[in-house]
Amino acid sequence: MVSAVTDPLVLCYHALSPTWSAALSTTPTRFERQLGLLLSRGYRGVTFTEATRAAPGERVLAVTFDDAYRSVLALAEPILQRHGIPATVFAPTDYIGSERPMRWPGIEQWLGGTDEPELVPMSWAELRALAERGWEIGSHTCSHPHLTQIGDDALADELARSKSTCERELGAACDSLAYPYGDLDERVVAAAARAGYETAAALPSRLDARGALQWPRIGVYNADDELRFRLKVSAPLRGLRRTPLWESLGALRGLASRG
Ligand SMILES: [Zn+2]
Repeated sequence: MVSAVTDPLVLCYHALSPTWSAALSTTPTRFERQLGLLLSRGYRGVTFTEATRAAPGERVLAVTFDDAYRSVLALAEPILQRHGIPATVFAPTDYIGSERPMRWPGIEQWLGGTDEPELVPMSWAELRALAERGWEIGSHTCSHPHLTQIGDDALADELARSKSTCERELGAACDSLAYPYGDLDERVVAAAARAGYETAAALPSRLDARGALQWPRIGVYNADDELRFRLKVSAPLRGLRRTPLWESLGALRGLASRG
């Protein structure tokens, strides 16, 4: 028997678009329905760091967005504002302010096509405006590398420089991080601690608790229609994803895939 899970629910989104078919994009209509479902169940919207500090059993929901796509400001923020809840953006600092499309394996296939504008991130002024409205802005490193695949010096630089850039541009402490691709190992987590991060967001298949620097999130993707979303956030499935049994359930694990 899997025990009920009522602990903080942390969701990981990327972009919103009514038309973009990328796996990491969700339509505004679906996003609003997903939010409405959870709020109707009594979840209270908080930032990522607040969720990591919530009391056990508290029904809090943290909506997080990786990569700082401008569509988050244009399409997600009005919906969140209507419901009166903040969110969290993890920004890859080398791209912020550049007004050029972001590019790394996983999204660069959209360069050069009609959807290329979807890859343009927010500016620092736009992130500042979100912070003023109660959003949390965290680091998503500088250049969005696979952190497990780079050397110690580059790893330390990605973590420290993105943190200090956020702090300089936003005039506030930057204590949270999201690992690009959810890619981490012990060395990466130790480096995040050394760089001074207090919380860091992961994207694991297993949702078992591993501390504030490997905080599990549930990724929501283009393929998540209403049924899949309801299943993903359901207490039984989340409970199951905390157990070792999850590793052996190949078919269900498709639900945790990154699209
Ligand atoms: Zn990312």
